[in-house]
Amino acid sequence: SGAVLALSLAACGGEGAGGGGDTSGEKPSDLTIGVSMPTQTSERWIADGNSVKQKLEAKGYKVDLQYAGDDIPTQSQQVDQMITQGADVLVIAAIDGTALSGQLQAAADAKIPVIAYDRLIRDSPNVNFYVSFDNYKVGVAQATALLVGLGLLNKDGSKGTAKGPFNIELFAGSLDDNNAHFFFDGAMDTLKPFIDDKSLRVKSGQTAIEQVAILRWQQETAQKRMEDLLTSSYNDGSKVQGVLSPYDGLSRGIITALQNAGYGGSGSKMPVVTGQDAEIASVKLINDGVQSSTIFKDTRLLAEQAVIAAEAFLQEKEPQANDTKTYDNGVKVVPSFLLPVQTVYKDDIKSALVDSGYWTAEEVASGQ
Ligand code: BGC
Repeated sequence: SGAVLALSLAACGGEGAGGGGDTSGEKPSDLTIGVSMPTQTSERWIADGNSVKQKLEAKGYKVDLQYAGDDIPTQSQQVDQMITQGADVLVIAAIDGTALSGQLQAAADAKIPVIAYDRLIRDSPNVNFYVSFDNYKVGVAQATALLVGLGLLNKDGSKGTAKGPFNIELFAGSLDDNNAHFFFDGAMDTLKPFIDDKSLRVKSGQTAIEQVAILRWQQETAQKRMEDLLTSSYNDGSKVQGVLSPYDGLSRGIITALQNAGYGGSGSKMPVVTGQDAEIASVKLINDGVQSSTIFKDTRLLAEQAVIAAEAFLQEKEPQANDTKTYDNGVKVVPSFLLPVQTVYKDDIKSALVDSGYWTAEEVASGQ
């Protein structure tokens, strides 16, 4: 891979300012980083965009930050525009991981390095680097939190005292997001032994990712699917006891459906519901004992890695990868920097989220 890199760097050389080419001798203020984010409906992407922008601007770079409203043509257009306006590096969190090949080819033609941010961009040779979290481990952590919540496992990983069988239902993210598959694979590998020994039962029978995926990670779609599941599979007096949810927004839709059906009211226990992203609305629900857990991914650290990688490219260097095996995008294995993740139960809110300055104690405790 060293040889390949040398070649690609050589191919990058020999151009002046304004979009790609050799940028190593240029002042930060003459360089622009295009940052393309998927949506502002989820607070994590707002935090991601702001952190990347602030950190780059603090180093003197110019930043063109755009949000695409979860609309694929809008994102394509925004990236096209960044290229024609002379971006020197692109940082992209894709809506649909397979829809940007054309843009990435244009970027490569203009010698602009591309960093895939959080979500891998697929089916293109022109992804130069990937910064993300360990997405398979996110899925393992979510399934583990479900098992701990049900009492089948203890937090230290040892066997819990509960026996089951427990009724559970499964949710996955958007199929066009590469991460959704890693989350689901990690979760299913962890749940499988418990499904096999019948301590867990997916009462609807819906266990394939295609059956449980939620397009564009939409809260309302998750609420509707949970309502449908309750009507179709729990109309015989049986109760759902756990729900694997891969993202806090989905978790809140699921919780709304459950509450509307009487769960969490008098005499009816709220099922164990997992999550991801430590969104404040879900952190409050965890604090109130309504949602069981979330997975905290510190977007400040991810933004920092994106900035480190962008600067390396601007200095015509290779960003430091810590994983060169996992993320095959269908054309090549993309060198990656993966960050660790942390499970947050109610007891961890203070140490993980408040003490680290991610949320304040007031934000966590304030009314809904
Ligand atoms: C991200 C998650 C996020 C989800 C929905 C995924 O690609 O990795 O952190 O919950 O998208 O926005």
